[in-house]
Amino acid sequence: MNDEKIDLKYLLRVGIILLAIIVGGFLFWNPSTEMTLHVLDVGQGDAILIESEGKWMLFDAGPRNRIVDLLYQYEVTHLDYFVTSHPDADHIGGAAAVIREFPIGTYADSGAKHTTKIYENMITALVEEDIAYSELTSGNRWTLGGATVEVLSSGEGSNNNDESVVLRITHDDITFLLPGDREKIRDWETTILVVPHHGSAGLRLGKPPEVALISAGLNNRYGHPAQATLDLLESFGAEIYRTDLNGTITVVSDGKKYEIFTEK
Ligand SMILES: [Zn+2]
Repeated sequence: MNDEKIDLKYLLRVGIILLAIIVGGFLFWNPSTEMTLHVLDVGQGDAILIESEGKWMLFDAGPRNRIVDLLYQYEVTHLDYFVTSHPDADHIGGAAAVIREFPIGTYADSGAKHTTKIYENMITALVEEDIAYSELTSGNRWTLGGATVEVLSSGEGSNNNDESVVLRITHDDITFLLPGDREKIRDWETTILVVPHHGSAGLRLGKPPEVALISAGLNNRYGHPAQATLDLLESFGAEIYRTDLNGTITVVSDGKKYEIFTEK
């Protein structure tokens, strides 16, 4: 009889402890994932770093080897994916250095080739480091932590810039459009737009983005970003950030809302 009473007390205690663990678990359980995108300040060029749940992707490597220091600054240890939009120097200038410095899961591009020394150095580095290569076509998609990466265009166009790989990254309700230097982007909607071709005058927009991120060098000789493009973005009501004025721009998304931080 006495033994039975003790057992009941014991069971009650165990029950209360289990309940506390379950309730506590729900209170601290956060089902949403984070995704961070940095438009790195690489001067006149493009380099965009994306991270979600410990998975890293770099889209373009800027004009110079400075990219390596920037990746270390953001505590990159490896790249699950390294994608280049097109083989112009302002996008692949730092590519060979990145390939030699960091372990890379897959390197991918449109398959477009170039005759420059910079392009040759990148290919040599890919071969010597024995990196897996993937030629992209529109419709390709893969996951990066809690985000999905989709190829909207790749190698489709009449010139180097238009042939850029165009990526759309979807993080639940928030979308990011990364068009490289392809200015024909009217068909695609996005929450956050990395403005194509450093904000040159050729931009035509379909649906307005909430935020426009421009990667351009301070006082660059091309006059990027063009006043016409800034006016167009403003007329669409987009919030504008520029690496030439703001330094590196960081967007942190929880899938429902996002916050933007700038270096300056
Ligand atoms: Zn460019």
